[in-house]
Amino acid sequence: MDDELLRWFDAEGLLRFAAYGDPDGTVVEVTRGPLVALGPHDADYRLAPHPQRMAYRVRLLREMTFEDYQAFMLSWFEHAVRAGEVRCANCDRRILETTPDMVDADTWDAIFIEKELVAWMLCHFDCKKQLPRHLKGRHPFELDPGPAPIYDLSDELHGAARPEEESVG
Ligand SMILES: [Zn+2]
Repeated sequence: MDDELLRWFDAEGLLRFAAYGDPDGTVVEVTRGPLVALGPHDADYRLAPHPQRMAYRVRLLREMTFEDYQAFMLSWFEHAVRAGEVRCANCDRRILETTPDMVDADTWDAIFIEKELVAWMLCHFDCKKQLPRHLKGRHPFELDPGPAPIYDLSDELHGAARPEEESVG
């Protein structure tokens, strides 16, 4: 993970640390930054993206509050959904672009988890109740996340609406 991003997550208290003892007595320390889940399986986890790597121009990372990063993540997920690359973190069904006539079973929400596992994911409204059970026991150090897919977010000029403001229009 990018150094600047790692420092920013550290300042926000979002890094997790683990130490392992090798058989020869060496202690290995591992740092894990926040993740994004593109689906329910271990292999669906990626490292949380750096805004500038996605050409995000609304705000520089060093000027961002946590709320700003949340808004960036929502924009990033919107692009991922448009690309058809996100599945529900619980049921594995593809997350569809929100439309006014969307059936209830397809409606979804962005979720941020901050426990031992720190991760953003998308989940159907109907799946939210099962999600904690699904995530139980998932340990960030057992995952082997690659980099997040790159989307061009340069068209985002004002940041995503907060979830509670999304119904406008
Ligand atoms: Zn679902």
